[in-house]
Amino acid sequence: MKVPFVDLYSQYQSIQSDIDEAIQTVIKETAFIGGKYVEEFEQKFASLYGVKHCIGVANGTDSLYIIMKMLGIGPGDEVITVANSWISSSETISQTGAKPVFIDIEPQYYTIDVSQLEAAITANTKAIIPVHLQGQMCDMDAIMSIANKYNIPVIEDCAQSHFSEWHGSRAGTMGIAGSFSFYPGKNLGAYGDAGCIITNSDELAKKCKMFARHGALKKHQHEIEGINSRLDGLQAAILSAKLPHILNWTDKRIVNASLYTNLLKDNTNVICPEVRANTKHTFHLYVVRVKQREALTLYLKENGVETAIHYPEILPLLPAYKYLNYSAADFKIAADYSSQILSLPMFPELTTDQIKHVVDTINRFYDTAAQK
Ligand SMILES: *Cc1c(COP(=O)(O)O)cnc(C)c1O
Repeated sequence: MKVPFVDLYSQYQSIQSDIDEAIQTVIKETAFIGGKYVEEFEQKFASLYGVKHCIGVANGTDSLYIIMKMLGIGPGDEVITVANSWISSSETISQTGAKPVFIDIEPQYYTIDVSQLEAAITANTKAIIPVHLQGQMCDMDAIMSIANKYNIPVIEDCAQSHFSEWHGSRAGTMGIAGSFSFYPGKNLGAYGDAGCIITNSDELAKKCKMFARHGALKKHQHEIEGINSRLDGLQAAILSAKLPHILNWTDKRIVNASLYTNLLKDNTNVICPEVRANTKHTFHLYVVRVKQREALTLYLKENGVETAIHYPEILPLLPAYKYLNYSAADFKIAADYSSQILSLPMFPELTTDQIKHVVDTINRFYDTAAQK
């Protein structure tokens, strides 16, 4: 049996006529850049989140960069983020001219260790970027209370946490802004690059929109120099066609995750993800920690199961950050986990049989190893 890591085509097939029609309509109306379909998606997304503003941008990396630039972050500033994430969370800090400051993850939930947050704050700290990694919420009460104490804005990186919830509040609605990616493999994915910013701040929304559109809210009236970062009409129309299904797809991920966890619970070689109390973990990724990872990965591959690692090296230890002189000892948990973590296939359309095949294969691997 083949179990791909993700299967974007089967999702397309499930809503093919809606997607095809959306694409045809945009082409017929040549509404490729800006216009009706972008606005429609921005409004729908903002209303689903109960926020005042949604600004479509070209991708989730730009959205982080744009928010930071428009908060006035630049050279001499520091921004705190987490050691285990995709590089967008930190490279955008450097793009503004500021310095990324990394902290470790907490052992149970893989998100930023809030107990280390306050010690990392200096007079130069201008923002905190918690990443709701894998769909798991960071401890937002602790983060917001420390941030408020020092009057530091919080930018939530929600690229992996569409519709995740903290005590009933959606990821992206608690900080000054939420940053989203609609990269095809994300929980809400376009058919190319796309992203957005959500915020309740009128001022920040206006600035971000202006900056992302060459510094002009009206044609030819460039109030500042900006960049070109647009959500295009085709991607917006595709995203709008997917929106009615997103909560259902999210529920399916959650069901798939609990099936994995249930089936794997007696396997002492595998540590399953735990969901933080009072939160909705949306399982962008289902990450386990395993023994003999290389051999297991190979065995799964031989048995048709694709896996991945998120991420093989923690950010501060990448060559890109050598100049910051961090060592593995600075990130005990994240550095330790990076050699154990394994992302199992996870997508809404995953079948029970596929999940059973993955688990059976894992169990067989350890049974065989034990007999040797
Ligand atoms: C995917 C991702 C991003 C960036 O999104 P793009 O749309 O690919 O630019 C940012 N942060 C995290 C945590 C991500 O997983």
